[in-house]
Amino acid sequence: MSGTWRLFQLQKADTRLTELDKALRALRADQQHRQLLQEALTALEGSETTLRQSKKELREMEHEESTLRARARMLEDKLYSGRISNPKELSGYQDELQAVQTRLDALEDTMLSRMEELEGLEEEHQGLVTRADQARRDHDERQQALDQKIASLEDESSSLRQRRNEQASGIEPGLLKRYSDLLVRKNGVAVAKITRQTCGGCGMNLTDHKIQEAGREGLTFCSTCSRILYLEG
Ligand SMILES: [Zn+2]
Repeated sequence: MSGTWRLFQLQKADTRLTELDKALRALRADQQHRQLLQEALTALEGSETTLRQSKKELREMEHEESTLRARARMLEDKLYSGRISNPKELSGYQDELQAVQTRLDALEDTMLSRMEELEGLEEEHQGLVTRADQARRDHDERQQALDQKIASLEDESSSLRQRRNEQASGIEPGLLKRYSDLLVRKNGVAVAKITRQTCGGCGMNLTDHKIQEAGREGLTFCSTCSRILYLEG
């Protein structure tokens, strides 16, 4: 087999290896499903905090309510027991009972609206729980698909790399060096296949003479892009 043919086989392997590296980088960087899950979990956490706070406030109000009710009952007992005859003392208790009842009325109004609010929060929270569950499932599914794809590309890449290195070891070192230098300089394409009388590297038309030259032993370079020309057949 000619040196150019060997180089072209190497080029095919290198081109595919570059594609595989690029694809693997993109797959490993695929974070969208992680972000979506993170967003869902953050929203859920926020809602849990709000819900906890809201329940705590309601419990505090319930506690205040029962304290006020006990105080009101005590005041009523005093007022209607008939044991207190001092008008000043009586009016003091009446004023306090009035104040306690006013506070109770306001507190009950607040509690009622807080309970409605809590119902809304609980409904919203339930929605966020469902959303987080879904995001978790989507994430796991996506991650599993990504892991499979990554593993398969890694397999292909490692066996191709091994084959490529075996191919390279069969090429004369000087030739291999020219190839490697060109590969770096020419954006990953050192050997260009001739297709319809044009250079596969730069797309320029080639003269008949150039094409004939490429069909012989030894290296032929494209006069436009300087890549090694490969003529099939
Ligand atoms: Zn060219």
